[in-house]
Amino acid sequence: MFDYIEEVDALVPWFFPVVVFVFGACWGSFLNVVIYRLPAGKSVVRPGSHCACGQPIAWYNNLPILSWCLLGGKARCCGQKFSVRYPCVELLTALLFLAAWMLLPVQVAVAGFVFIALLVAATFIDLDTMTLPDQITVGGCIVGVLLSFALPELHGFGGDEPFLLRAMRSGIMGMMGAAVGSGVILWIALSAETVLRKEAMGFGDVILMGCIGAFCGWQGALFAIFGGALLGTVVVIPLMILQKLFGFAVPGPGKVVKAGKEGVSAALDKEEAEARSKAATEEKGGEKTGTSAAPVQPATTSSTASATSADRPEAVAGLAEDGEQPQLGMGVAIPFGPWLALGGLVYFLIMRGPTDAYLDTLTTIIFSPLGLAQ
Ligand SMILES: [Zn+2]
Repeated sequence: MFDYIEEVDALVPWFFPVVVFVFGACWGSFLNVVIYRLPAGKSVVRPGSHCACGQPIAWYNNLPILSWCLLGGKARCCGQKFSVRYPCVELLTALLFLAAWMLLPVQVAVAGFVFIALLVAATFIDLDTMTLPDQITVGGCIVGVLLSFALPELHGFGGDEPFLLRAMRSGIMGMMGAAVGSGVILWIALSAETVLRKEAMGFGDVILMGCIGAFCGWQGALFAIFGGALLGTVVVIPLMILQKLFGFAVPGPGKVVKAGKEGVSAALDKEEAEARSKAATEEKGGEKTGTSAAPVQPATTSSTASATSADRPEAVAGLAEDGEQPQLGMGVAIPFGPWLALGGLVYFLIMRGPTDAYLDTLTTIIFSPLGLAQ
């Protein structure tokens, strides 16, 4: 089957990329439903898409990306505005599917579609509600391990050896990745908890790392944890400097829990806070998928991010330390999941080769004096 795909690809090079892009956009459309309904405990299958006014949305007004643009972001039935986030999630998913298709071998790309869908859903749900639903994290772990067995190429076991042998090796890599991913982050979370004397990370992050490890192996799990933190810092530090220079307030959810956290995580706080409040603002546009007129409320765990504190992020951030100048990133709770997802995705799409080569060299250097390598 996969050989056949490669033959068609050689004959009509644009065919599969277009198909994959459209396929990704359709998945993005479904992920929008998942992102809004799953945290609210609603079925993601029934009922079909509804406008905020209660009217069902016809399929021809519900085409991924296109319909939003054609209708100018408004509902056909009542003119209610739809958030720009809907087409953005669809476009993002489509582009990531396309990237996986172009950059990876066919078998890995197929597993990648599942991985991308899980990460996109996890990211936006975490941004919205500060929680990661088990259906995505635990489900992702199980699916990742199963796909490791079914598609040995996922962990680099191509070759001519018997399929069963490759499947076993790949499956073991998947399980090892899940164990290392969740194990390392659990250790970090427990250490931080001991030092800070408060909960530093949700258990959802631990299981999400299991899912990322199952798809990426232990090397990818390590990359996702440390690369994700690094990426966060690279994005956040320029923002911090800008804020210092111009003194603009970065709005955030304003939940004070992590005063005195070390640099990286503290910096991550604010970035996420900003992203989250942006998402919250965009959400006000309308609710495409719910059955009632009221927008789906985030789960109760996130209710601490109240409107009052969001209005005055500096005041809340200032509570972190008595008498201290309110600083960007201090004491604002953030979801860590999106950064883990971003790290996992970067590894999966482009960094697998360099990272594995680097870790191979590193383990050789560490273990060869002990006579343990090879
Ligand atoms: Zn309507």
